[in-house]
Amino acid sequence: MCTKSHSILNRKEVNNNKGNKTMGIKGKNDRMVVLACEECKERNYTTTKNKKNIKERMELNKYCPKCQKHTAHKETK
Ligand SMILES: [Zn+2]
Repeated sequence: MCTKSHSILNRKEVNNNKGNKTMGIKGKNDRMVVLACEECKERNYTTTKNKKNIKERMELNKYCPKCQKHTAHKETK
């Protein structure tokens, strides 16, 4: 007997994973910066900045737990 076996194409239901595009990063121009206390150099804060809009170094007055007061925090790497 010569029965041709039809090969059944097993069509797997492909799960349509809605591509989780790199979460956390808002845009390619957004860059994470670390803000460090000017006085003790402790890195207390992180933030993101758009390097397209902000070209100069960031400087913010923030509370430093080490100095226990508000100090200037400058952008560092
Ligand atoms: Zn400090």
